Amino acid sequence: MARAKVTVVGAGNVGGTTAQLLAQKNYADVVLVDIIDGLPQGKALDLMQVGPVAGYDTNIIGTNSYEDTAGSDVVVITSGIARKPGMSRDDLLNTNAGIVGSVTEQVVKYSPNCIIILVANPLDVMTQLSLRRSGFPRERVFGQAGVLDSARFRAFIAMELNVSVENVTAFVLGGHGDTMVPLPRYSTVAGIPVTELIAPARLQEIVQRTADGGAEIVKLLKTGSAFYAPAASSVEMVDAVLGDKKKILPCCVMLNGEYGINGLCVGVPVKLGAKGVEEIIQIKLTPEEDAALKKSAGAVKEMTDVLKI
Ligand code: NAD
Repeated sequence: MARAKVTVVGAGNVGGTTAQLLAQKNYADVVLVDIIDGLPQGKALDLMQVGPVAGYDTNIIGTNSYEDTAGSDVVVITSGIARKPGMSRDDLLNTNAGIVGSVTEQVVKYSPNCIIILVANPLDVMTQLSLRRSGFPRERVFGQAGVLDSARFRAFIAMELNVSVENVTAFVLGGHGDTMVPLPRYSTVAGIPVTELIAPARLQEIVQRTADGGAEIVKLLKTGSAFYAPAASSVEMVDAVLGDKKKILPCCVMLNGEYGINGLCVGVPVKLGAKGVEEIIQIKLTPEEDAALKKSAGAVKEMTDVLKI
């Protein structure tokens, strides 16, 4: 059986790390694309030379040409500028809209049957833009935000309780940004709701730290934003698709009435498998949670209105 083919657009921090993690999985060949001449080629060559040491046979190509991406099964779009201190994800809107729009057109031209996973920010808006520009059904264009946001929530809960992160599950809904909606009552440690293990005031602090999780890292790095966990989160989604795992993960997807939201890409739990988003899982929300999700969707709408998408 032929190996799957995964293209990663953007060979920067997130894209390069995504390519590295994918190469180590050894289940797909990887094409790394960037507009900078030499950057994807250099990183790909470096990653090819990890193979003998790490024990993978993955073929990794670095290129500036979309012809090399032809016939990709999955395309991860990380191309775009990242935040610097003092910038919000929304500050990236116009620059990244130009980049993501043109990248999507090229991707679709050479891989008309692929599944596209958006990573560039502002994530929810870029997902909507790519969906519209691709002409693909919503099942095949969705965004990575919730996996990262819930990984952050899980890490903070595990640090707080001094337990294995493997015991912690967490759920985060809504847009990737200040309006994300962590759901403590669906978050558990070995099956026990965190609301029974952490006092409400402290839990609220952890929820806030999760919502500010990206900004905390931007402030420390000073020259860019987080990339290890974002890349790992994107690869978990590729895994779910290529492995046809039917995994329930929070993803940014176009809603057509689900959760009372129509025509906007927002983060909700979905079932990810070989066909992409195979089901949107609807969970019952409390009035407060529902209001927070609607507020989050409203923040996405403000930006999709600006771009008229
Ligand atoms: P980076 O600056 O390290 O890399 C971006 C790369 O994109 C650069 O190499 C640049 O040359 C390339 N690029 C720009 N225009 C391009 C084009 N038209 N075609 C191909 N490549 C192009 O940035 P990064 O840290 O890798 O972040 C990338 C994006 O991902 C940013 O928008 C960032 O905000 C976002 N991000 C999202 C999440 C998430 O959870 N969704 C997490 C972290 C970062």
